[in-house]
Amino acid sequence: MEVKEIKAYGTAEATAPLDQLNINRRKPTPHDVEIEILFCGVCHSDLHTARSEWGPSMYPCVPGHEIVGRIVSVGAHVNKFQVGQMVGVGCLVDSCQECQYCKEGLEQYCEPGATQTYNSPDKHFPGNPTFGGYSESIVVNENFVLSIPENLDPAAAAPLLCAGITTYSPLHHWKVGPGQTVGIVGIGGLGHMGLKIAKAMGAHVVAFTTSESKFAEAKRLGADEVVLSKDAEQMAAYRGKLHFILDCVSAEHDINAYLNLLRVDGSLALVGAPEKPLPVAAFSLIPARRSFAGSMIGGIAETQEMLNFCAEHNIPADIEIINIQNINEAYERLLKGDVKYRFVIDMASLKN
Ligand code: NAP
Ligand code: ZN
Repeated sequence: MEVKEIKAYGTAEATAPLDQLNINRRKPTPHDVEIEILFCGVCHSDLHTARSEWGPSMYPCVPGHEIVGRIVSVGAHVNKFQVGQMVGVGCLVDSCQECQYCKEGLEQYCEPGATQTYNSPDKHFPGNPTFGGYSESIVVNENFVLSIPENLDPAAAAPLLCAGITTYSPLHHWKVGPGQTVGIVGIGGLGHMGLKIAKAMGAHVVAFTTSESKFAEAKRLGADEVVLSKDAEQMAAYRGKLHFILDCVSAEHDINAYLNLLRVDGSLALVGAPEKPLPVAAFSLIPARRSFAGSMIGGIAETQEMLNFCAEHNIPADIEIINIQNINEAYERLLKGDVKYRFVIDMASLKN
């Protein structure tokens, strides 16, 4: 296979900081698109994976699955995209395309397993992991490439590729809309998008945060009400009041405290993925026929639908642009909940 060596940022082991390294990308095959990466969002999953918090990762690990860039070349059979177009790549770069779920547009739940943008076995380089967007360029099958609508700023659109779709998909699936009171828990990268999207869908939105510093801003982001989740009295006021809750918390927390806020037949969908289990009490669910669910990113067609929805409703992410050389510091700030609300790497800094 013809390869091209490029610069990237990643780590050789769970306990080492990220640093510059070189990786190989395949030259575009007939159905591939080659993208020069301009911006890459920093998802908490990047940190979980780089540090093997969800079990052993494949190394070297080059994270990054909120990719926006410009097409620099296309394979001979590519018909959806052209050189020069602004495009995105999210958490998936391939799937079997044949199983029942792929056929339904649920590539994220592909039966044999989808290929994640990083930390998946790379079909094109057997024995090697896929490498993500903390890099100069990426080569992706055109079926996994998204169009970035023109009215979205490319840097502020990057977080939509994961944080946007991961919140849009469950809000859409559980039919959130007018007449419903919806809770968004954990106002980080995912949660702030959840506030914006739930509001745009017409729901009455309640933000739950542990950070007093996010109180005023949560309202600007779309919350009608804000609750300090550490305050038992404030929490008690919402018992049995919510139709749906989206839990975006990255660390261990008491899930029962939120289940008890659901109305009869209400659902709580977990998208946050703490490394340790979250114990659920039977009596948080039984007395009100409540459902406790999970949701993973979204399919490719649904991701394009979400991008178009965000363009139509003018919903960019709120971002802080960083240079790649500051990624380790950004990870430490993520752990403290100190980001408003998504770090996005200006990938031009990789050339420094
Ligand atoms: P993030 O920006 O770090 O936000 C997480 C938020 O959780 C924080 O801002 C904080 O919000 C809250 N939080 C953090 N530690 C907490 C603690 N100890 N107790 C209570 N609340 C705490 O992370 P993210 O990028 O949004 O990702 C959130 C989680 O979703 C991660 O676990 C990530 O891996 C996962 N994820 C899942 C999917 C999926 O497909 N299901 C996709 C992407 C990411 P407040 O300051 O408001 O309390
Ligand atoms: Zn992510």
